[in-house]
Amino acid sequence: PSPDHEKLRRRIDNGVTEIWYYIKSKLNKIKKTSDKDQIDEQIDEILVDGGDQQRSILTDIYLLGVSGGIDMWRENEAKELEQTVQKRLKYLQNPKDCSKAKKLVCNLNKGCGYGCQLHHVVYCLIMAYGSERTLILESKGWRYAKDGWEKFFQPLSNTCVTITGTSRNAWTEESRIKDVQVVDLPIVDGLHPRPNYLPLAIPEDLSERLLRLHGQPAVWWIAQFIKYVTRPQPVLQSFLDETRNKVKFENPIVGVHVRRTDKVGTEAAFHNIDEYMVHVEEYYKRLSRIRDVPIKRVYLATDEPKLLSEAKQKFPDYIFVSDNDISRTAGLGQRYSEESLKGVIADIHLLSESDYLVCTFSSQVCRVAYEIMQTRFPDASTFFHSLDDVYYFGGQNAHDEKVLYTHIPRNGAEIPLELDDAIGIAGNHWDGYSKGHNRRINKSGLYPSYKTEDKPNIAKMPTYPEADK
Ligand code: GDP
Repeated sequence: PSPDHEKLRRRIDNGVTEIWYYIKSKLNKIKKTSDKDQIDEQIDEILVDGGDQQRSILTDIYLLGVSGGIDMWRENEAKELEQTVQKRLKYLQNPKDCSKAKKLVCNLNKGCGYGCQLHHVVYCLIMAYGSERTLILESKGWRYAKDGWEKFFQPLSNTCVTITGTSRNAWTEESRIKDVQVVDLPIVDGLHPRPNYLPLAIPEDLSERLLRLHGQPAVWWIAQFIKYVTRPQPVLQSFLDETRNKVKFENPIVGVHVRRTDKVGTEAAFHNIDEYMVHVEEYYKRLSRIRDVPIKRVYLATDEPKLLSEAKQKFPDYIFVSDNDISRTAGLGQRYSEESLKGVIADIHLLSESDYLVCTFSSQVCRVAYEIMQTRFPDASTFFHSLDDVYYFGGQNAHDEKVLYTHIPRNGAEIPLELDDAIGIAGNHWDGYSKGHNRRINKSGLYPSYKTEDKPNIAKMPTYPEADK
């Protein structure tokens, strides 16, 4: 270990010890205070100073993570893994003889927005990877662009795009389609049977390396599929570059995505801009520990055209970077047009180029941005705050947590935890507690979030040794 490593480790130890000394003594003091105003004053002090102490500890942990060249190792490892996976996808998608290739057909026209459709394509390519079939994407007549996917993105294959084959069948038990050349894939909601390599699974042959490199390896894995399917056509690349220049996008910047219009009240709750900005402010407080922050920039993406002026007015010490043309077409009226498609692609692109994301993971727009972010940093798994859901992939297999510490419920709202229990996580309430389902006793409720950790879902998948030749 480098000298810094040991020094920082002791400093973190000290920081955690001291923060608890501090909270304990302050709370005991409050207990002895009867005056309400004095109590409020002391609590406000704990909220400010406790936050400061926590940021100091997090800063030391950050420094520990870049000490002694470990950051270089991380960069290289991420790059190598990325190349491995991208080569495999290219190999899978470009069979030498298309007339003999096994194919999986996926239709882009799922009746939903761009984020949802992109995730649909990702699901299709994951199915193709798992079943060793070349993916054929049918996209003519796309609701956003009638010429289809290739108008903006490079084709998924250079050698094999025709659906024809000697036999064709709908997706079903593997034994019944193993000799069928062309298989039609339904949307994930109608998939049967459901293979174990669906998200949030990661491939067994890379699992050890991915688990070491990344805090959310399943997101890293999904990001690789997004990277492959969204390789831009030159016209899209120029548009993205122009937009970046036009809005004067510069790092450091926090990406804020505010999803309103049709989503509010149906699939998500309304959140005021202030709720997002609390976390933006927190990010900049942390950043200013490790570098000078003369300007606090926010990239604001939203389908609510009026929000930009509200944000500027309420938070004058921030610079809001945004594209008015984009948010004008993002509202419900003109949502499905090439212009609005370019708008949402640009918004997602710039959100993913941000250093930190504040948004609602109930929105696929934000989840896509978070996924793409993982291809820009070796591990950006913690560079976000979601105001609602934990990360998920629509149609995913069961997402379980494993128990680190046992728990005895304190009240009827809580569930017990034992070491071998599998807990299906429903959500983190971001207040120290999560909600989940204890499968052993078939009961849902709250438990302290720190008492569980993500249980990696490792699945056997093809390894494509020929891709490296
Ligand atoms: P979800 O409904 O938020 O989960 O995400 P979808 O992508 O499936 O559908 C929402 C659609 O609304 C997007 O694809 C866009 O067309 C539009 N939209 C939502 N938020 C934004 C935004 O911040 N910017 C732009 N340009 N479009 C948005």
